[in-house]
Amino acid sequence: MAQKAAWIGLGVMGFPMAGHLVAKSGVELTVYNRTAAKSAAWTGKRKGSAAPTPKAAAAGASIVFSCVGNDDDLRQVTMGEQGAFHGMAAGSLFVDHTTASADVARELHAEAKKRGIGFVDAPVSGGQAGAENGVLTVMCGGEASDFERAEPLIMSYARMCKLLGAPGSGQLAKMCNQIAIAGLVEGLAECIHFGKKAGLNMEQVVEVISKGAAGSWQMENRYKTMIADKFDFGFAVDWMRKDLGICLSEARRNGAHLPVTALVDQFYSEVQKLGGNRWDTSSLIARLEK
Ligand code: NAP
Repeated sequence: MAQKAAWIGLGVMGFPMAGHLVAKSGVELTVYNRTAAKSAAWTGKRKGSAAPTPKAAAAGASIVFSCVGNDDDLRQVTMGEQGAFHGMAAGSLFVDHTTASADVARELHAEAKKRGIGFVDAPVSGGQAGAENGVLTVMCGGEASDFERAEPLIMSYARMCKLLGAPGSGQLAKMCNQIAIAGLVEGLAECIHFGKKAGLNMEQVVEVISKGAAGSWQMENRYKTMIADKFDFGFAVDWMRKDLGICLSEARRNGAHLPVTALVDQFYSEVQKLGGNRWDTSSLIARLEK
């Protein structure tokens, strides 16, 4: 009999991830989405059924996945009145792909443990394209035995998945990821802004410098749209500010110095004032060119 699984949150990321899971792993999947129309759209395209609450979706599942917005959303879909934890049996496993704080990961790991449920924090990197193509990078925290159960299923939509330490370590690794991206995108924005002011053909310039030491994923994938001032896609500024807020509050606690990250967070607040809440993070260039 097929393994029963559940998926909570069919947003930009969760929708294609759940699709790859069902297509490649052979699990019998029940999905839940707060806005029911998205569950209906998903079951219209993929094999699986929809449930009206996280609790109902999780009932009878040996593994439950989630990919929702932030800490509070995650608490709601796990511990809330109709949360998944209330439907899960001892011995089952919860895998969370939300980008959230390390604190909430530790808190939910402890809550799950009281009920005999395993919990792995497993935020992802690779964006919408990575989710759609099933090639995400997944950073995990939790217990090795839980990770070993989750990994083969996660590999349905990932090309890299690693256990990085105790509960919360996946979220801490995702913070490293976002810290590394923040300053890099600002550098890329300043590079393109400067080159345009200097009268250079930036398409040609980036074609050359992307092959040298300045090359990056952001440069390869974002330079064309940055030059063209197109930001209506990708990873939203609001999400990035949520992530940088998590990084800065963790740094206040662990004593790390993140001056550039703090500054770039403020730059993103200016992009929000320009109306860019849902713009891609490469829109840092918009505040230089306004
Ligand atoms: P999204 O498109 O906004 O989807 C969020 C999903 O969470 C939706 O299904 C939403 O339901 C659900 N949700 C939010 N709050 C909820 C609540 N309180 N109760 C129940 N369901 C709730 O976001 P996304 O782009 O998929 O991102 C999801 C997570 O992945 C975020 O933590 C984000 O930071 C992270 N992430 C995103 C990307 C990216 O490129 N997009 C990349 C890496 C990581 P509704 O449909 O009802 O709104």
